[in-house]
Amino acid sequence: MTFVTRFAPSPTGPLHLGHAFSALTAFRRAQDKAGTFLLRIEDIDQSRARPEWEALIFEDLHWLGLDWSDPVMRQSDRLPAYRAALDRLAARGLLYPCACSRADIRAALAAPQEGAALHGPDGLIYPGTCRGRSMDEAGPGDSLRLDMARAVASLGALPGFNETGPLHPGCHALDGSELVAGVGDVVLARRDMGTSYHLSVVVDDAAQGITEVVRGADIFDATRIHVLLQALLGLPHPAFHHHDLIRDETGKRLAKRDDARAIRTYRDEGRSPAQVRAMVGF
Ligand code: GLU
Repeated sequence: MTFVTRFAPSPTGPLHLGHAFSALTAFRRAQDKAGTFLLRIEDIDQSRARPEWEALIFEDLHWLGLDWSDPVMRQSDRLPAYRAALDRLAARGLLYPCACSRADIRAALAAPQEGAALHGPDGLIYPGTCRGRSMDEAGPGDSLRLDMARAVASLGALPGFNETGPLHPGCHALDGSELVAGVGDVVLARRDMGTSYHLSVVVDDAAQGITEVVRGADIFDATRIHVLLQALLGLPHPAFHHHDLIRDETGKRLAKRDDARAIRTYRDEGRSPAQVRAMVGF
């Protein structure tokens, strides 16, 4: 099987050294395996995505010496594919509409009988307030949540995934009770977007034929959601390679607003692509 990987940035700010490391890691893995390196623009959050950030992504990556095979996938073009995946999950009775705001969720979890609030990969674990609602009542003000307990029960044997990264190498089996208790009913379609990061990334990795997902270790905890969704949607399971994160001198991981470490800033200062690649170990 040909090796296919991708770099999937969101055009919501300048790329920084952490992105350079991620893109170079994926690119080099594809080169080493005589495989294919693809680009995907993750712009489902149209309130934050900007064409100028997208243009800068292309410029910065070319400047670093990367190139990719066509076509570039843009998530804002893919809403019908996300809709179709949601319809399939809904037809199996695995989705329900939810009107709860963050404040509602916090209030429900603050009720004395609930005990300590738990955090999962998406923040507070949803207390299940809307779980009894049917998809027939779904309206424009609702998000759509996955009923995690039903999803797990619907699968029988749960899949696992193969991790090729340095931090947790080996095979990881999904644990059903841990998914229910430690992840919970995640949102698969946000009310303002009609999709979510989790759903889009799974549908698109399959559509792009990705055989190894290369990305930061900060997303490791969300990977089990993606592997579960692949199984629910009958999609292939790629391998995963979660790489270390680039941190600043205080040990904090770099964020989009870290303009000082933006690739563009180094370009403007007259650094060479080789110097910036060397800063992240390439
Ligand atoms: N778009 C995500 C980010 O910018 C990465 C997506 C992924 O690799 O799953 O962090």
